[in-house]
Amino acid sequence: MNLQDYKGVFVFVQQVDGKVTNVSYELIGKAKELAADLGTEVTAVLLGHQVDGLCKPLAEYGADRIIKIDDKLLETYMTEPYAYCMAETIKKYKPEAVLVGATAIGRDVGPRISARVHTGLTADCTGLAVDPESGNLQMTRPAFGGNIMATIICPEHRPQMATVRPGVMKKLPREEGRTCPVEEFVPADLDQHINVEILEVVKTAAAKMDIQDAKILVSGGRGMCSAENFHLLQELADVLGGTVSCSRAAVDAGWAEKDMQVGQTGKTVRPNLYIACGISGAIQHLAGMEDSDVIVAINKDETAPIFEVADYGIVGDALQIVPLLTEALKREIV
Ligand code: FAD
Repeated sequence: MNLQDYKGVFVFVQQVDGKVTNVSYELIGKAKELAADLGTEVTAVLLGHQVDGLCKPLAEYGADRIIKIDDKLLETYMTEPYAYCMAETIKKYKPEAVLVGATAIGRDVGPRISARVHTGLTADCTGLAVDPESGNLQMTRPAFGGNIMATIICPEHRPQMATVRPGVMKKLPREEGRTCPVEEFVPADLDQHINVEILEVVKTAAAKMDIQDAKILVSGGRGMCSAENFHLLQELADVLGGTVSCSRAAVDAGWAEKDMQVGQTGKTVRPNLYIACGISGAIQHLAGMEDSDVIVAINKDETAPIFEVADYGIVGDALQIVPLLTEALKREIV
């Protein structure tokens, strides 16, 4: 393999129902930074059907070029045709790095792409940088249960592939009116790569806001003591116009749903305000929320590690303080 033949940073654009997922814009933002260090450009690879309308926002969020693979067979995500199209794109265009969002789709397709093009993939990266000497991508991720951060390189194969969890990187400010070239590519014999027929797509109704989209999170941990006490958090969240999230201990105890979990094995969040109630601040929890703009911690143990990252700390019983806070805010806000 001649490494010099590989140029450019590619981002796999995840779209669902004609809407680009936020992580794709976040990765374009990060890819711009890497591409500047490498002296190259960012290409967004967009797969789907009738996705022309998505090219505009991709360009406005920083893509320098879009490779569009538009086919009826790609209308709904399926592992085999998507993996095939991405692998063919890599074989044809030879990028030096490919970034994929670590969503359910990205985690499914990413490793399959890397296996097909015989390269490595670093999953769940929290940091990406370019080594100024070798030009290799330095892919950093937590290892050994989050106790160390491992920086991984892929020096002998191309492309260098990484998945990155949503919310970890920042998207660039949208530059209205920015455009970029769009190139169409149709891999040969795509119809030979359909091995599943989708009969029906059944969606679960999402009544709650995704915690990754929430500007204000009221988060509960083991210190909330029971599922019933999570109502106290909901009442506070309602007054603030926020959403309830939680630690893994709360999920393990059956008090909250898994999709509300913040942290290394949950979601990474970056709200304007994060209120941690009865959460100790284990490293795996902090990994998912420490970049929040303002952190308020309520904990009865003044030595709890959560206070090290908190902007404001209240030492005391969350079961008493949360309702008092709710009442006080109701008076302020009404
Ligand atoms: P605890 O650590 O038990 O803390 C409870 C806190 O509540 C204590 O600080 C206590 O002082 C306080 N408290 C008790 N009663 C009250 C009260 N009445 N009022 C006020 N404060 C009170 N954890 C995550 O959260 N997210 C993850 O994604 C995650 N991933 C993990 C991945 C791995 C590989 C591993 C090994 C662990 C992971 N964990 C994760 C678990 C993590 O290590 C902690 O066990 C977990 O975060 C603890 O949750 P907690 O803070 O709610 O509970």
